[in-house]
Amino acid sequence: MSYALGPPAVRAFRIPIGSPLALGEGVKMTRRKKIYEGKAKILYEGPEPGTLIQYFKDDATAFNATKKAVLEGKGVINNRISEYIMTRLNSIGVQNHFIRRLNLREQLIREVEIIPLEVVCRNIAAGSLSQRFGLPEGQALPRSIIEFYLKDDKLGDPMVAEEHITAFNWATTQEMDDMMALTLRVNDFLTGTFGAVGITLVDFKIEFGRIWENDYARVILADEISPDSCRLWDSQTNEKLDKDRFRRDLGEVIESYTEVARRLGIMKEMPTVIQGGLH
Ligand code: C5P
Repeated sequence: MSYALGPPAVRAFRIPIGSPLALGEGVKMTRRKKIYEGKAKILYEGPEPGTLIQYFKDDATAFNATKKAVLEGKGVINNRISEYIMTRLNSIGVQNHFIRRLNLREQLIREVEIIPLEVVCRNIAAGSLSQRFGLPEGQALPRSIIEFYLKDDKLGDPMVAEEHITAFNWATTQEMDDMMALTLRVNDFLTGTFGAVGITLVDFKIEFGRIWENDYARVILADEISPDSCRLWDSQTNEKLDKDRFRRDLGEVIESYTEVARRLGIMKEMPTVIQGGLH
């Protein structure tokens, strides 16, 4: 899938990066061109060529969208948590698409050509790994395991091997190596960051995109990192603080996401989220 911009004639309007309007606070962005709508996010045309605006919805889906709900405030929290993580990853040299947050639900990102793979990294058995191999949830894995899934809802995101990925040209061998190295760095960073605030990183899913410099493509981290895409357990109690609360009907989904944000120290500015009303 490519996030290529549409023909110039349909571009709505431009706001220069850095102008007060570009902050988007209180500015109703009407007539923007929608580039792509996913289950939890929408991508709009950005203010400058090569940029997009990533909008975080409150929609929650699970089991390939057979289970759906609207969780008021989720988009606001995930926007903030993903901003926090992507900013810090950038500062340790893990290049990603995040440029800056624009408002409660939106961030300015670099336009990338999305690689159609979901890269999952696991430290502890849970979810589909536990099901596939009959491993008890919570069993530590002998080492971190990286898996690749094809991003294709119609096919139910099947797991794929490196052989499939290179044979079908979803990514090159070099890109596979880059994605694996970056995934391990993200895993180290997230394990440390969450560990420091009493949260165990069980597993997570990330996505990558290409940015082109002349004829040379570089792989950078894209999409989001949030409790929607990570399994996060309280280190003391193993209580789930992530999307499994929604998948498994455990309740208190927004409260748990808010707790993750609070522990990361980014709750202060969004105290009203769980009371709803933020749009
Ligand atoms: O379901 P499974 O155990 O394979 O999920 C592994 C990790 O990837 C979990 O953290 C889950 O939240 C994440 N994931 C995701 N999007 C998917 C599939 C899995 O964020 N489509």
